[in-house]
Amino acid sequence: MDLDTSVQFIKGVGPRRAEAFAEQGIRTIGDLIGYPPFRYEDRTVYRPLHSLQDNEWALTRGQVCSVGGFDSRRRGLAVLEMLVKDGTGSVVLKFFNQPYLRDHYRQGMNLVIYGQVKRDAYLHGALCFTNPECEVLEEESAAPSVHSGRVVPVYRRLGPLRSRALRQILFGAVACLPPDMTDPLPAYLRRQYRLLPRAKALSQIHFPELLATSPEGRAREMEMLNRGLSPAHKRMIFEELFQMQVGLGLVRQSRTHFLKDRNLAVGENVRQAIKRILPFHPTGAQKRVLKEIAEDLCSARPMSRLLQGDVGSGKTIVAAQAAILAAENGFQTAIMAPTEILAEQHYFNFRRLLSPLGYPIDLLKGSLPAKEKRSALERIRVGETRIAIGTHALIQEAVEFQNLALVIIDEQHRFGVIQRNVLRSKGRLPDTLVMTATPIPRSLALTFYGDLDVSVIDELPPGRRPIETRWIHEKDRGMAYEEMRRTVAGGHQVYVVYPLVEETEKSDLRAATQMAEQLQQRVFPDLSVGLLHGKMKTADKDRVMNAFAAGEVQVLVATTVIEVGVDVANATLMVIEHTERFGLAQLHQLRGRVGRGAAQSMCLLVGNTQGNPEALRRVEILCETNDGFRIAEVDLELRGPGEIAGIRQSGVPVFKYANLVRDRKALELAHTEAGRFLHKLRNTPDEDCRRIAALIRQQWRERCSIALTG
Ligand code: ADP
Ligand code: MG
Repeated sequence: MDLDTSVQFIKGVGPRRAEAFAEQGIRTIGDLIGYPPFRYEDRTVYRPLHSLQDNEWALTRGQVCSVGGFDSRRRGLAVLEMLVKDGTGSVVLKFFNQPYLRDHYRQGMNLVIYGQVKRDAYLHGALCFTNPECEVLEEESAAPSVHSGRVVPVYRRLGPLRSRALRQILFGAVACLPPDMTDPLPAYLRRQYRLLPRAKALSQIHFPELLATSPEGRAREMEMLNRGLSPAHKRMIFEELFQMQVGLGLVRQSRTHFLKDRNLAVGENVRQAIKRILPFHPTGAQKRVLKEIAEDLCSARPMSRLLQGDVGSGKTIVAAQAAILAAENGFQTAIMAPTEILAEQHYFNFRRLLSPLGYPIDLLKGSLPAKEKRSALERIRVGETRIAIGTHALIQEAVEFQNLALVIIDEQHRFGVIQRNVLRSKGRLPDTLVMTATPIPRSLALTFYGDLDVSVIDELPPGRRPIETRWIHEKDRGMAYEEMRRTVAGGHQVYVVYPLVEETEKSDLRAATQMAEQLQQRVFPDLSVGLLHGKMKTADKDRVMNAFAAGEVQVLVATTVIEVGVDVANATLMVIEHTERFGLAQLHQLRGRVGRGAAQSMCLLVGNTQGNPEALRRVEILCETNDGFRIAEVDLELRGPGEIAGIRQSGVPVFKYANLVRDRKALELAHTEAGRFLHKLRNTPDEDCRRIAALIRQQWRERCSIALTG
């Protein structure tokens, strides 16, 4: 038997269980061993019965004195009771609704029992285990092996298979581990970081042995096991992270195998065009990043670049400049957003920014009338459209470009490594620029975006003052109204944002609409209050946004449609209603709508965080800092990586052992070592190196359907 053997050949696994495993994606012994326990129990010490305490979890053993019949006093419940004794005392075992157990237990049997003991009111306060884990011993002294007398693994239920059954089966599986199994970590790294051999690590993960002899030492080892940080776990964590980093490195490398068939250059026309749209001097960071992008666009290798920067750092301008470079060279640009609303925002924004240049810009969205859609598609096909903006249907549908050179993806954490590669496999090899609305913590950037080159705008335009942020309980909303009035009196403008879980939720829309009406009629009858939400007609949105930009509307009540795109420097107050309903990244992004000019800006977070500690934490961090990178880290801690990046659908393998929040250091190390490994692979590869690279390529092919050349 080896790791490729079907699970069916393990003792205790018949065709039925094998089928249950198959449904969970577990076919071979190797697959099974890749199912780690989620916690451990120290069952090395048996407690004498007289020492048991109410409510504690305990491992004990004794002899069955009597097996009661089924007691059905309580209606609907069948209870089997047994009395168990050792030399020191006795305890009752109760099993509910398991009638077959009556034939299983007999007087005189020796049992090992694990479970929680409780005083039982039905037994006049005697101590009792309810549905404990029980093992029948052959004879009194026999050393039990799988479920007791050791540190035992506890598994999450897998289909119909519960922890105890899994433990038994895994015990058989671990016995199949060949001690000299091939290791996906290079030997030099195992030596350098003193990592356990793979077989040893896996067997220790399932059936660990404690090394310490003192109770404190053993308690410490148990704690490390339960936190998933034992030496065996650390070895598997490093393996996972290293493989992922090498895989992403290979994705990046394999791109350079293809050459573009177009030539772009930064000529005088490009310089002039850029000058015409820029009302200010770019910051040093913007210049640097634009240079990185321009070099990529003009090189023969297709670009795959992530553009990072905090809210308000000026990413949009940089993206627009890249689009100008393409347009002035006669090529098309596609801008993709994850939702139609965001696509519309980009459409407004880019049209406004690029209006001096008069490029034909088209918005392609699902809700477009058939006739308009057809003509837009035609304009894109013949190359009349210079910039096409839409959802990712833009590349998935049968949209034909005449000469697409640049794809700008407004990431919003929705597209993953796989989707990005679908794009590339379209054969056109467009240059891709992925933009994020808010910063991404480094650990996520290394994983979710590890296949991309990264440009960071780490400097805000000059003259910006940090936005002052305050928390206001919803009962004190009047304070927010006073601030609004003060702001308008000072000649500035105000946003009031209302949360919409879904733009389609009628009740939410009504709430925002009512809010606008109430503000207009009761609170600010003397001011002009506007309303903006996703369900409005494009022309109406346009009208409201233009009126706000022109200063004709002083207070703009909006749903989260203003999250991107709206850019009015004279607006200096952001009031967010029902703050507790928004995520941290979104709040930071909304707040970034103000603080865009030289005037002091303010953000008021109105809401109620009662009974919602996470919302409270979000408010705290926002009041504390304006630093998007710091906020992103906290967001990652609060929500966990899966939530943030949607890693499951991204093509980055889901980790079994590693945790991106906890294992940041290990990730950095894996990243560095993967870089060294890839360098070695390119220059002085040995047998081990080639074998491991082949293994990782195969994994990516199987898991992500990404073929890695090179
Ligand atoms: P982001 O998309 O990164 O959140 P934007 O591109 O929307 O930021 O820019 C934020 C605001 O800052 C806009 O009003 C923009 O016109 C302005 N801006 C961008 N770059 C500069 C600069 N170098 N100097 C002055 N203002 C700038
Ligand atoms: Mg922006």
